[in-house]
Amino acid sequence: MGKNNPNYEVNYFTDPYDKAAKIVFLNTCGFISSWREEMLKVMNNLLKKWKKVYLLGCGLQYYENLIKKNSHPEWNEGYILHCVQNDNKINKISRNDFEKVTINNLIKWYNSQTFSDFRFTKWPRVYTNAEYKFEYLKIAEWCDNNCTFCIIPKIRWKQKSMPMEKIIDEVKNMIKAGIKEIILIAQDTSSYGTDIYGKWMLLELLKKMEKIKADFKFRLLYLYPDLLTLKWLKDLKWMRKFIPYFDIPLQHISSDVLKRMGRFYDKKKIYEILNFISKNFKSKFIRTNSIIWFPWESKKDFEELKRFIKEGWFDNIALFEYHDEKFSTASKLSNKIPAKTIRKRFNEVKKLVDELFERKQKLRKWEKETWFIMDFETSNYKPSTINYKLFVRPWLNAPEIDSYDKIDMKKIIDKKNIPNRQKNQWNIIFLDDWVIPTTWETGSINEVKWLQISKAVRYNLKIGDQIEYIV
Ligand code: SF4
Repeated sequence: MGKNNPNYEVNYFTDPYDKAAKIVFLNTCGFISSWREEMLKVMNNLLKKWKKVYLLGCGLQYYENLIKKNSHPEWNEGYILHCVQNDNKINKISRNDFEKVTINNLIKWYNSQTFSDFRFTKWPRVYTNAEYKFEYLKIAEWCDNNCTFCIIPKIRWKQKSMPMEKIIDEVKNMIKAGIKEIILIAQDTSSYGTDIYGKWMLLELLKKMEKIKADFKFRLLYLYPDLLTLKWLKDLKWMRKFIPYFDIPLQHISSDVLKRMGRFYDKKKIYEILNFISKNFKSKFIRTNSIIWFPWESKKDFEELKRFIKEGWFDNIALFEYHDEKFSTASKLSNKIPAKTIRKRFNEVKKLVDELFERKQKLRKWEKETWFIMDFETSNYKPSTINYKLFVRPWLNAPEIDSYDKIDMKKIIDKKNIPNRQKNQWNIIFLDDWVIPTTWETGSINEVKWLQISKAVRYNLKIGDQIEYIV
């Protein structure tokens, strides 16, 4: 039930194949071919189940803006066939409409031009992730960069930023709805404000958010590296609401490759940023991504990338095999590497990355963590039992992107047991059948007092509860 917004109420199902669900909103992604294929597959499955499908997202814009406009043969294939053959079952809406209106309005107005600009909406949105205590907030849309491998600027248009006061209003609404973590997103979050204020305004926006008197934190995704100056990073350091999560899509370390990718930074800039973050943020999470084997990438470039990854700067790395995306500038470059070789190199880097993170994960053992419960291992979880596993998101990890900790309920640090906890007072960790007190400061087991666990069963946990636990 979407009851978290005071102006909004609707029944919705998270399983699109649920028998009771008649209308399905399918959010599509158009800038990678495999995701477009997935879109067609899912659309097909939904239609077979007699669902009415509302399509939104840039998958739709890809077909409408690129394929149709360029009279590309793909226009006559899968997508258009679905639309023609299911005329009464497929509806198209812009993502902006979806974010601005209630479901009822959306159905009524889906093709209206009135809602064509997401910045000027008056309708409240539904917070579909409120149960998990986080929500995304889009502060700008579209992108002014021209990375040679990317077709997003071709599918979409020039950057459009949401005015600052609108964002702050929305943040306040989110806080009222019980959201504790607000995730700011855009195609290029660093460039927020350049279109409407004539300069980069992300830092000013964050300072305003910092001043809001409420218990919440914010996280930034998609920080394009060129604007991350040291002064800027220094300011972030003093923000108490800022989660030190640095999602910086670097793509590569070789300056030559970066240049061919059309990126506006080089190796020197990358090291400047990483060194600064590492020295100045005690707790931090750095995430990046990398394209494996871009056209003209040499063996030397590839070895440089592997050395860079081995240096261990990152807590998560997303790897992508290079593929020609039609309409991209890179697809016209010569000296392509065969897909089979790219796959081999991809697996090599993947192995390296997996080993690296496995080592990092081992080092976390016995660390104290905190943040929100995302799920329970079994669907038949009953309050007041202690034998189930929980999936908890550590506070530095981003939802839906990074891994969650799977912990035994007995590893929850029991706060209720020690209401006035002071330095060096005892915490209780639940381990197997026993309760083991530890010190707050070190988290180490200094003294063992064996108590029957049955005496300590008092939980009534639910998704979205914030807990402290031992990894
Ligand atoms: S910054 Fe991101 S969205 Fe913009 S062109 Fe580059 S890859 Fe595409």
